[in-house]
Order: sequence, then structure tokens, then C-alpha cells
Amino acid sequence: MARAVLHLLDQTPEQLAAWLAERQIPRYRAKQVRHWVLGEAVDGFDQMTDLAKPLRNQLAETFGIWTTQVKAHKESADGTEKLLLELADGHRVECVLLRDDKEHRTACISTQVGCAMGCVFCASGLAGLVRNLTSGEILEELLRLKRLLPGRQRLSHIVVMGMGEPLVNLDRLLPALETATRPDGLGISARRITVSTVGIPKGIRRLADLDCQYHLAVSLHAANDALRNRLVPTNRKIGIAAVLEAADYYFQKTGRRVMFEYVLLAAVNDQPEHARQLVALLKGRPALVNLIPYNPVVGLRYHTPRSTATARFAEILERAGLSVAVRYRKGNRIDAACGQLRRSCVPERS
Ligand code: SF4
Repeated sequence: MARAVLHLLDQTPEQLAAWLAERQIPRYRAKQVRHWVLGEAVDGFDQMTDLAKPLRNQLAETFGIWTTQVKAHKESADGTEKLLLELADGHRVECVLLRDDKEHRTACISTQVGCAMGCVFCASGLAGLVRNLTSGEILEELLRLKRLLPGRQRLSHIVVMGMGEPLVNLDRLLPALETATRPDGLGISARRITVSTVGIPKGIRRLADLDCQYHLAVSLHAANDALRNRLVPTNRKIGIAAVLEAADYYFQKTGRRVMFEYVLLAAVNDQPEHARQLVALLKGRPALVNLIPYNPVVGLRYHTPRSTATARFAEILERAGLSVAVRYRKGNRIDAACGQLRRSCVPERS
């Protein structure tokens, strides 16, 4: 029977060093290996030219660097690129590289195959949850996107807004983000990483207690429980009050202002009374509201609000003193809440 190959990206620095130590190979070799994989994103062990050939062979017998295959690669005119990755078990996830005029090079990554949260306007969760991604698979998304950059360019930001609910896969996400932030990893500042959640209080508190300086984005989408229960079914077990308490706790512990994502659905949650309810909910909180006019998904019955409705909604929030950003999606422009982003991340022109 063929021996299973371990995913090198699933190994912590300590595990890799221990593997080397068992073979009487100095620890510093682990640093070299990690540099080749994370810094250079090489194709294979053969390219690790400062390692002796026998060691390269040993590594190749035990570990694999790449477990995914790129099944599709799309580029849009604004520089956005999307990869469809096939995992070793045949399941597929998407990840996206976003560029903007501030020279941000942002990786948008998935954390699960599918999603169990069931938000009614989101395509990602339609078929439910298949499985969590491993730390190595999450890191591999980052490396695949990094390889799209020319020359020595690096990823500058990460948004965890792709397929899945990140806070129910924290055990695998956190090691991946830790590697992303390490100077000998991808060297991305924790302050340039945003984790987006539908609002899982336990996960928010856990993240807050780590004091890891990540931005938190909470996908609210409604300011009363009756409506949110309809749009975000997982809210039935949680309730908005508990989500906000956890968000407040995040701010208290980290000092980081929480972003609230609100996808505007025409005639569903985009009316002035909804804006006023949102004001009542968030007023006095150090919050930033991201309004995201919905981008229709084939097969779902929701529509983009008129621009006048969006402007009116934003104005009500602003007049009440809330900080508001409207994320208009223009063709391949991407900036959205979790799950919604998975679809909106998809450049339409290839
Ligand atoms: S919006 Fe996010 S949390 Fe909701 S179903 Fe989609 S991926 Fe899951």
C-alpha cells in the first residue's frame, strides 16, 4: 500500500525541527526548508539548492509541498485574479487575489468546503458543510495567490471572507494565520488581517482573548432578530444581543474597532426603518458599518437595491454619527461580507 505523504504546510516549525532531529539533522535546516516553501513558494524539494541531495530526497519521501491543483484561473481587467483549487480529496474551494490603487495585494481565502450557516442569500452554504480545510490547505491558498505576484512582490493583506465560517474552524485557521504573520513565514502584519464571521460569540471571544490584533468583521445583515433569523438562520440559536456583546468584548480586549457588514437586499433589509434600527443597535459603539449592495446570485431570489435606496440608507446612518463605507461592486471589484464574497470575488470577465 502506498505510504501517505504528509503536508509540509501542516507541520509547525517545531514539528519540522523534531523530524529533522530524529534524523540527526541540525535544526537550522528547518528554517531553510520553510524559507524555500513560504518565502520562495518553490515547486518541489529539488529547488532547495542549499540542502544536500540526500536530505531533499528524505523530505520528498515524507512530505508533499502542494496538495492542491489549480483547476481554473481567471483574471479581470482591474487585476483581480481568482483561483479554483481542487483539494487532494477532489473537493474544491476558491481564493482570490485583489489589487487596488493603494498597492494593496490582498488574499481572500476560504476556510471550509461549503458552510453550515445557511445564510439565505449566499451561494457558498447552499449545499451545507462538507468539511473544514486544514491549516496546510489554508496556507496553500495563500501561497498559490502569492505565486501570482510578479518578482519579489508580497501579499500585503489577508481577508478571511471566502467560503465557510472561519470561527468554527479556528483550530486550523489560527496556525495558518500565525505562519502568515511570522517574519520567517509570509511576514504579513496581524493588523492587516481581517477575519469575517457571521457572529459566533464563542469564537469571537476566543479570538479576542488571543489578543492577536486581527480585524474582526461581523456580518450582521439585519438589526432585529425576526429579520436576521430569516436571513442568517444560525441567528435563531444565538440572537443579535449575544453577537453584539461578543463584538463589544472584542473591542474591549483588543482596542480594535469592529466592522459590521450589512448586505443590502432590495425590499428586504434596505428600507429607512431598517437603517433606523441599525442606528439604534450600533449608536455609541466604536463601529464601522460596511454597506454592501447585494450582487445577485443565479437561482436566488434576492436583488440589488436601487442606488437611491443605498444612498438613503447610508445617509441615515451617517446622520446618526455612524462611520459608514459603501462597498459598491463594479464588475470585478471585490469587497464584501463572508460567503457573499465568495461569489462576488469571482471576476466576471476572464
Ligand atoms: S454568508 Fe458566510 S457564514 Fe453565511 S452561509 Fe455564506 S459563507 Fe457561510
